[in-house]
Formats: sequence, structure tokens, C-alpha cells
Amino acid sequence: MKIKNIFAKLALGASLMAAGSAMAAQVTYQYLNQTHSELRNWAGQYANPTVYYDRAVCSQDMTAYACGQNIQLGTRFLQQMENQYPLSAKGIFAHEWGHSIQFRYNIYSRPPYQELQADCVSGAYAYYAENNLGYQGLFRSAQMAAYSAGDPTHGTGSQRASYVRNGYNTRGNLVGCF
Ligand SMILES: [Zn+2]
Repeated sequence: MKIKNIFAKLALGASLMAAGSAMAAQVTYQYLNQTHSELRNWAGQYANPTVYYDRAVCSQDMTAYACGQNIQLGTRFLQQMENQYPLSAKGIFAHEWGHSIQFRYNIYSRPPYQELQADCVSGAYAYYAENNLGYQGLFRSAQMAAYSAGDPTHGTGSQRASYVRNGYNTRGNLVGCF
């Protein structure tokens, strides 16, 4: 591991402990509809998926999935994530939007890079949303949610947090993720 990465990991650990200041939202359909509008305004020129709530359109697993130009969001799952990491429901929605862009442009990378690219899109959205929509803390929450959910398909927690950061560093220009 490079020295730079060790410092990045230490900094992330410190930010993990500082978490919990923002308020968790109620992940209602209205809240998700609003997030959908925000994502469409930001990235609708790259993909404009149809979004389904609590319906098994892509998978029987009611977490969050994208397939083709459909996104499936489970409100129970998103509320659980939101309670742990306020605003992370928006970050997860943005991650799925990233998959919709991949599918639209036929971008398929081997694991975990397909997922890490979607994490990058989530980070780019976090920058946009913090600076244009007033969602302070979204970046940190998106990063921590990703960090908490490492696996062989999505990448390690550290890889995921680092790709959310890469996206944030595009200053909201998701093209930098592709
Ligand atoms: Zn994904």
C-alpha cells in the first residue's frame, strides 16, 4: 500500500467517527421523486431511466438495482441506509443512475470496476448536490455508505470510498468518471 493511500485511509477513519451530524430523511416516494428530478436535471442528458419503487423489475432482492434503462429502489433498504448515513439514499440513487449511463452507452467493465465507476458517478453527484442543492454532508455519507458495503463485486470498502472521492473531485462533471 502506498503511503498516500494509508493517509487517505486514516483520514476516512476520522471522518467516519465525525459522522451523524446531518438529519436522516424519511425515504418516502415523494422524497425519491424529488431526488429523481434532481438527478434528471443534473444528468438527464446521459441517461433518463424509468424508476420503480418497491417493485421487482430488475431483481427479487429489494435493495437497489439498475437493469437496462430501469432502476429499482427498495424503500425499506434505502431507509436503513439513510438512518445510518444521512442523505445516502440520494447517493445510492445516483450510483444506480451511473449504471443506467453505462447500460445506455454499452460500457461493461470487469468486477469491481463496473461498480466503482457507478460509485464515481455518485461522488460527482454529491459535489453537485452539495454545491447547488444545499445537501451538505452528502459526500461524506455517500463515501461512508460505500465504505461500509465492500464486497468482491463492488470492490473493497477502501476502493469504493476512493472512487466516490474521485467522482467528487470531478466537481460535479460525471464525464470525468468515464
Ligand atoms: Zn452498483
